[in-house]
Amino acid sequence: MSSVTAVSRRLTFHGGTLFNSLLYTLPVRQVVVVRRSSVLVCRREVRNIVGVCGGVLRAPQSTVSATMAPIITNNLPPSQLVQEYIEQNKVMIFSKSYCPFCHRVKDLFNQLNVHYTALELDHMDNGLEVQEALAERSGQSTVPNVFINGEHLGGADKTFETHEKGELLPLINKSDHDYDYDLIVIGGGSGGLAASKRAADLGAKVAVCDFVTPTPKGTTWGLGGTCVNVGCIPKKLMHQAAILGHDMKDSREFGWETPEAITHDWNKMVEGIQSHIGSLNWGYRVALRDKKVTYLNAYSTFIDSHTLKTVDRRGKEKIVTADKFLLAMGGRPRYPDITGAKEHCITSDDIFSLPYAPGKTLLVGASYIALECAGFLAGLGYDTTVMVRSILLRGFDQQMAENVGAYMEKNGIKFIRGAVPSSVEQIEEGTPGMLKVTATTSEGEEITDEYNTVVIAVGRDPCTSGIGLENIGVEMANACMVMENY
Ligand SMILES: Cc1cc2nc3c(=O)[nH]c(=O)nc-3n(C[C@H](O)[C@H](O)[C@H](O)COP(=O)(O)OP(=O)(O)OC[C@H]3O[C@@H](n4cnc5c(N)ncnc54)[C@H](O)[C@@H]3O)c2cc1C
Repeated sequence: MSSVTAVSRRLTFHGGTLFNSLLYTLPVRQVVVVRRSSVLVCRREVRNIVGVCGGVLRAPQSTVSATMAPIITNNLPPSQLVQEYIEQNKVMIFSKSYCPFCHRVKDLFNQLNVHYTALELDHMDNGLEVQEALAERSGQSTVPNVFINGEHLGGADKTFETHEKGELLPLINKSDHDYDYDLIVIGGGSGGLAASKRAADLGAKVAVCDFVTPTPKGTTWGLGGTCVNVGCIPKKLMHQAAILGHDMKDSREFGWETPEAITHDWNKMVEGIQSHIGSLNWGYRVALRDKKVTYLNAYSTFIDSHTLKTVDRRGKEKIVTADKFLLAMGGRPRYPDITGAKEHCITSDDIFSLPYAPGKTLLVGASYIALECAGFLAGLGYDTTVMVRSILLRGFDQQMAENVGAYMEKNGIKFIRGAVPSSVEQIEEGTPGMLKVTATTSEGEEITDEYNTVVIAVGRDPCTSGIGLENIGVEMANACMVMENY
């Protein structure tokens, strides 16, 4: 059932146009539609509906639910009416429309984006009797009188105190299943970490599964995913290293007596960058611990739609279950299907921790990853060449892309245009060794050259294969994208 269906069914149920127009005159705060993997959430929240006694809306409520809660008639005996409201609403506020404490409590739930139902006792003919029944039921004779998941919470003070202790959302979002977790996030990169911490803030019991499959060269890294370990962060730090070298040369013109011959130590730079990344990895672990998110450093595969098999680096298997899963596995560099690619070449997954200076380097590809790596390598003083199949920066404004290319050439980076590698052969072992690269041009001509290092940057594939999505009935489109309906 689509979210839109859920809303329109409710409108019909309540009596067509009258309810419809009433609804539109209300201050509708927001309509939240969240696409789902197994549950659709659709919510229309109204901040303060004025109580309507005995009208089309049978009872005065402050929120409108799209979950089709049964209508409660005010003709019930007060104690039964109270009981019905408590049972049928996850967050139930017995309130009075003029009570400032009631307003504060409702404002709090609105701020937290929590759907609640409020019964305004002063708008009811039998409001006093209902309040007495409420006092008998809860031992509290004042309003607001708040119930969560059928349990009495208390008044305004107790509600705020519970919120300040960070216990309100967990109380509301208490799970009603027997799985190990409410949510397991697969992938501890920027996306997975942010989502898991937010879900924990909202009261969910969460685990994050993160495992880095080593590159063909054996490179691996810690928690935090691509950006922090082998992406944005080390890349910017290597750019910074290159920029500092330029600045030192420029500084002579500004009176600094910088020595003519300045040298750069690749290993020292890598050591500094890796130690910075190590501190970030640790910070992410601490942040998960602080939010009570369980970190499972293991590769996960679906067994069924609520069960994962996780395998850690020692091969130890564990079965974990969850009500919901969030896929945030990111992507990994693609290798071309040519002789020697995986054996002799590296990718951006290896370069930021490369334990030796790369020397004369060929970058295969014209993506931002290829060009950025070429930029800092040349800036650090390495002989740098980029092999481009067709155009630079596909998908970017081509005038800008060509300007970038021209600027790079001006700064000493060589380009081989209209060529793709056909083989990479090791002609000398070492760190770095020497590689012979053979390539074919668009005219069919064969060209060769020798490089110390070849960095492949011809695109990235999402990590959706091999995790058992077929076991949970998820179909793929274009070989790797998860279809929208799941
Ligand atoms: C060289 C480079 C430079 C970049 N520069 C920038 C930049 O400047 N600005 C920018 O915005 N973006 C940049 N990006 C892109 C950015 O890094 C990514 O978009 C971002 O990191 C993706 O985050 P994610 O959470 O989706 O996935 P990832 O960060 O890739 O995290 C996914 C995690 O899931 C793990 N995983 C996968 N499958 C499983 C499984 N089955 N079980 C357990 N764990 C699994 C992976 O090992 C990984 O740790 C750059 C990328 C690269 C490669």
